[in-house]
Amino acid sequence: MERTILHVDMNNFYASVECLDNPALRGKPVAVCGDPAARHGIVLAKSYEAKAYGVTTGQPIWQAKQRCPDLLVVPPHYDRYLEVSAAARELYISYTDRVEPFGLDECWLDVTGSQQLFGPGPVIADDIRGRVRLELGLTVSVGVSFNKVFAKLGSDLKKPDATTVITQDNYRDLAWRQPVSDLLYVGPATTAKLARYGIKTIGDLARMNVHGLHSLFGKVGVMLWQFANGQDNSGVATYTALPLIKTVGNSTTAPRDLVTDEDVKITLYALCDSVAARLREQNAMCSTVQIGIRDTSLLWYERQSKLTYPAQNSTDIFNAAFDLFQENRPRNPVRSLSVRACGLSPAGPVQLSLLPDEQRSQRLTDLERTMDKIREKYGRNAVRRAVSLVDPALDLDAEAEHIIHPIGFLGTLN
Ligand SMILES: [Mg+2]
Repeated sequence: MERTILHVDMNNFYASVECLDNPALRGKPVAVCGDPAARHGIVLAKSYEAKAYGVTTGQPIWQAKQRCPDLLVVPPHYDRYLEVSAAARELYISYTDRVEPFGLDECWLDVTGSQQLFGPGPVIADDIRGRVRLELGLTVSVGVSFNKVFAKLGSDLKKPDATTVITQDNYRDLAWRQPVSDLLYVGPATTAKLARYGIKTIGDLARMNVHGLHSLFGKVGVMLWQFANGQDNSGVATYTALPLIKTVGNSTTAPRDLVTDEDVKITLYALCDSVAARLREQNAMCSTVQIGIRDTSLLWYERQSKLTYPAQNSTDIFNAAFDLFQENRPRNPVRSLSVRACGLSPAGPVQLSLLPDEQRSQRLTDLERTMDKIREKYGRNAVRRAVSLVDPALDLDAEAEHIIHPIGFLGTLN
């Protein structure tokens, strides 16, 4: 039986949520940007009005303002995006339990078995669009197709607030005309490689000799060729709700007082490594990092900061934690430290991002997942950070001292 898959994509997600929360922004060119003072001062999302001026995602703020002098720049509010994202998913699961998130603003829905109840796929798609508009005040574009890859492609074809149906009969007309870069998993590097062989559209790719593609690009080449020809059999995962834990934290009293920055780094890295490993175990990402410091006068204080993008690798968490430490340095040597990851959200199966920083963050996560496996098999010390060798006595086995804070335990944190 042919499957019916929907891909629902919230239009200009971050910018739309900002406009929803602040009516003064509506109808104006708006860009959600990372901290203008930090190196992350780039456009994360923009409204259609800003886009019309040539403002693009990933652009530095100064450049965006050159294009559009009246541009309204607002900082991101990840907690709100997580909230709205969760509300949208709640709405989707009233149609099927097969809901697979892809990032915060996109989901696949397998509605094959839901059509008896709710009508054919395109009807469900229109229904969802109407409800999201009415109940959440946002617009979505929906692709309806017989597999995930074409459903995703469909949701990109008409925006905003539109339904596009890609069928066995029309995919050659609709999908094949599109640039090959629109195909899921075809990033800028692959696009450039394919272009060298004259493959510009999805149709160009579909019409290639599959053996030729195999010798040029290996297994990936075959996979992409199958996608282009509508042969994607991958299933839509069953929805797993938000992580059951709200924060993941870890603290330690150091074996000796921490005097130098190097001392603090060793301890923070050990804490961050274990916090990040636990995040990955829970398949969660955090949007806020909190540290706690107790110095030899036994004064205890906590400070927190927002990450520019949600992360689940220890380098991003460490960088935020060490920045916090430097900004809130105690007067005396440090006795104990804690690191907590807050503002948790479920991590999608694969995070594909166009932003260089997020791509780097994803690569770090992949690297650390490999480290997780090595440590699971050969023990924690099979892989160590070079900094820990400065004073191995400080390199605590944070793993053994996990402190997990369950939902509700910390009440109002985020
Ligand atoms: Mg979107």
